[in-house]
Amino acid sequence: MAGRRASVSPAQPWRVATLCALSRTSARRRAARRRPRGQGEPFMDEVVCIVGGGIAGLGAAHFARLQGLTPIVLEESGSLGGRAGAVCHNGEWFETGGKNFASDWTLFNGILRGFHSQTFDRQHPNFHIVIRDRLHAFDKKATLTNGLNMIRSVGLRGVLRFNGLLKRAARERDELTYFGDAIRRHELRYDPRPVNAHVPAILAEGPLRMFTIIMGAAEPDEFSFATLLLLLSSFGKGSHHSLPETTAVLFKHLAQGTDVRTGHRVTRIAVDNGRVTGVEGRCGGTPFHIPTGRVVVATPLHRVPVFLELGAAAAHAVASIPYHPLALINADYDEDVFTPEMNSIMFDPGSPLGHCSANRMHKRHSVRFTLSGRRARPLLTLDDDRLLSIAQDAFRRIHPIRGRLRYAHVQRHLGGLCAYGFHYSESRRRLLSVLDGTRGLAFAGDYLFGHNMEGCLQSAMAAVRHLTGEIGSYHRLHAYPESACGHDAAMRTLLAVPS
Ligand SMILES: Cc1cc2nc3c(=O)[nH]c(=O)nc-3n(C[C@H](O)[C@H](O)[C@H](O)COP(=O)(O)OP(=O)(O)OC[C@H]3O[C@@H](n4cnc5c(N)ncnc54)[C@H](O)[C@@H]3O)c2cc1C
Repeated sequence: MAGRRASVSPAQPWRVATLCALSRTSARRRAARRRPRGQGEPFMDEVVCIVGGGIAGLGAAHFARLQGLTPIVLEESGSLGGRAGAVCHNGEWFETGGKNFASDWTLFNGILRGFHSQTFDRQHPNFHIVIRDRLHAFDKKATLTNGLNMIRSVGLRGVLRFNGLLKRAARERDELTYFGDAIRRHELRYDPRPVNAHVPAILAEGPLRMFTIIMGAAEPDEFSFATLLLLLSSFGKGSHHSLPETTAVLFKHLAQGTDVRTGHRVTRIAVDNGRVTGVEGRCGGTPFHIPTGRVVVATPLHRVPVFLELGAAAAHAVASIPYHPLALINADYDEDVFTPEMNSIMFDPGSPLGHCSANRMHKRHSVRFTLSGRRARPLLTLDDDRLLSIAQDAFRRIHPIRGRLRYAHVQRHLGGLCAYGFHYSESRRRLLSVLDGTRGLAFAGDYLFGHNMEGCLQSAMAAVRHLTGEIGSYHRLHAYPESACGHDAAMRTLLAVPS
């Protein structure tokens, strides 16, 4: 794959310029004063190499620039965005992975405020779930109709148990966070068996599988109960949106002013005497070497051992944090497939489909088929046509597709989604101990503070703060803004830009 440097033009130059002017001077001064862990030693330089051009990597580049550093992003594929990327077909963009964000995500919305009008596409307010071959309607609000629908679908016992879980998640909310070490207390206190061991089968197959499949491409028997409670603790809160111009516009903004090198695969992070000294890799057939004293690793966790030597304990931790594969097919038809009342379907464990939804509320002819879960996994390497026909057949068993297919795009995410795993806090502790022993190294990604785009940005900010010596340990981090960046003027400036 040929390497190229992305040239990115500002979406709204005046805003970006104002923002940079406000933050640059003080950030440079602060950066010049800071030292990586092991105070007193000089910076090798101001370059920070970032491995991976997904949202965690480009987020790290963005925060690094605000801190007066010079980021270089090395991305092995030919495009940016990773699992939240977007592609264009006949002039129309669509996401090939992550797309929705919540109204209460501080960093994500803060970044958007810097360049984007606050007009978003609304996400589906309700959803349908196939439970034992029947389609049931739900919405996120506690209405009488929803209550009755739930009783019809999972029975009174199921409803009581579900409500009990929601109450418990609300009660224990302070512990249900990946910040600090709070989740550890929760994990130590409770029965570590998977979700299905804690609830009636019908709940595990239906409403709760929706969380495990959408957030981790995992079955309930592969998903930790603590992680489920963590997801339930924010269920129904805030509203969810997507960007009218797709995530492509976000990545364009984040890459703004950064040296981004696509087609650059990192094969080794060089460490000498407990200190990062450079990054090595290949661009096409040509090897490259970039000397630097700071690296942010922003790839999925399971990729890290390929280019970084980890001790046995950390390698074991990597293996115990599972990623489950899936495929996403964007298919466009010449007639609507969904209706205003029904635009999102969660399938049952017997189906190769995990979840399907209309691409946008106003694009009901455009379908996102997600093939995920145990039934889907052996099929994911079939060719595109076969995969599409399996998806359509499974969908038609539940709901008709009347229109003719105009085009389809298949994106396999064989690396998968992070499902956190059992005893996650212990795995993370072992993993992060690598950072204590290696100066100039930081991690960012979906395995640290949540498997969504906000979690990735939080981890990106934490990584930059770790490299500038502001935080010694990720375990000392608490959710934004209290300590993650509450006293950082440059970050505050970023977040304070009015819409
Ligand atoms: C189908 C799907 C739907 C989703 N829906 C949502 C959603 O609605 N909302 C939400 O918030 N999240 C969603 N997510 C999750 C979200 O997309 C991910 O959590 C997030 O994109 C992960 O970003 P990342 O930067 O950590 O990793 P990635 O996006 O995987 O980026 C890592 C990058 O590193 C590169 N790389 C790997 N190894 C190397 C190497 N050796 N050298 C150089 N580069 C390398 C990869 O090519 C990749 O581009 C969804 C995910 C999927 C797959």
